[in-house]
Amino acid sequence: MSILLTGGLGYIGSHTAVELLNRGEDVIIVDDLSNSKIIVKNKIMQITGKKFKFIKADLKNLKKTEKIFKNNNISAVVHFAGYKIVGESLNHPIKYYENNILITLNLLKCMEKYNVYNMVFSSSASIYGDQNEMPVKETFSTHANNPYSRTKLYIEEILKDFYNSNNKFNFAILRYFNPVGAHESGLIGEDPNDTPTNLMPYITKVATGELKELSIFGNDYSTKDGTGVRDFIHVCDLAIGHALALNKLKEKPGVFICNLGTGKGYTVLETVTTFNKVNGNLVKYKFVERRSGDIAISYADTTKAEKELKFKAKYNLEEMCKTSYKFEKNNK
Ligand code: UDP
Repeated sequence: MSILLTGGLGYIGSHTAVELLNRGEDVIIVDDLSNSKIIVKNKIMQITGKKFKFIKADLKNLKKTEKIFKNNNISAVVHFAGYKIVGESLNHPIKYYENNILITLNLLKCMEKYNVYNMVFSSSASIYGDQNEMPVKETFSTHANNPYSRTKLYIEEILKDFYNSNNKFNFAILRYFNPVGAHESGLIGEDPNDTPTNLMPYITKVATGELKELSIFGNDYSTKDGTGVRDFIHVCDLAIGHALALNKLKEKPGVFICNLGTGKGYTVLETVTTFNKVNGNLVKYKFVERRSGDIAISYADTTKAEKELKFKAKYNLEEMCKTSYKFEKNNK
């Protein structure tokens, strides 16, 4: 039996593939290469010394999706595939709704037809929006405030409806905080096709000289140094979270919703300063206006992950900064 990873050559998918292969699981990766590179397939094999099947396919195509389920013995789906750039989603909402939701619907249709009952879904802490209280618990209300986040929220609702219609299914919905860092080998990491919009990939490109200077969006928030606070979590910790969620599904949890973060908030300025401390003084920055739509503070309540998944993030911010830069240098 194999675990199907949709979007498995992407940033979080590739690290999860490594984790699952290292645990002796049989993995099939499907990816349309829209925001990933085929070379990642070889890098995963190089890191793990294991082989796996790769299928290039666009899961918006139901026939192609069905062929994958028909031709393989799939026990569970870990569903990463989806567009993920907030700014782009504001300009192209239909593209986001069509892609992210249609892929999920096609997967669910095939899971039902071929009796595949377990899915881990890649959701986002961005669905919490701006909250008055920190840390953020899974029980908090949701306020997705852009099309990207709304696709995540709507998919969560679709999964719940689907479960209510047929409770043979099990869904683990993982709400990621801010994934950063890279595999310690420096072979895989975050590698966006376009100029990055997220903080860490922007920082690493300033460090290598590809970009000139980091703009820190806002230094007038009510935080200790005025810059935004985020819960940065190492992508290898996140990958372990997926392996644990797959185990959780075997206990028949129905719909299990869980934050994946460290529970610690660091400011943007602290993050840049830590990066400069561990990698040499490479990143110049300036303060600019707040970015529209940004929230001031976001960090996770990790109680549920600790209790129910036995998950505790182990990498610190220094390791996140070191490995992010190692990958960027290797990949330049
Ligand atoms: N940020 C920044 N400069 C950048 C990119 C991001 O100051 O070039 C800040 C952003 O305003 C936020 C934090 O870094 O406070 C994390 O932003 P990111 O886009 O990585 O994640 P998200 O906003 O989804 O938490």
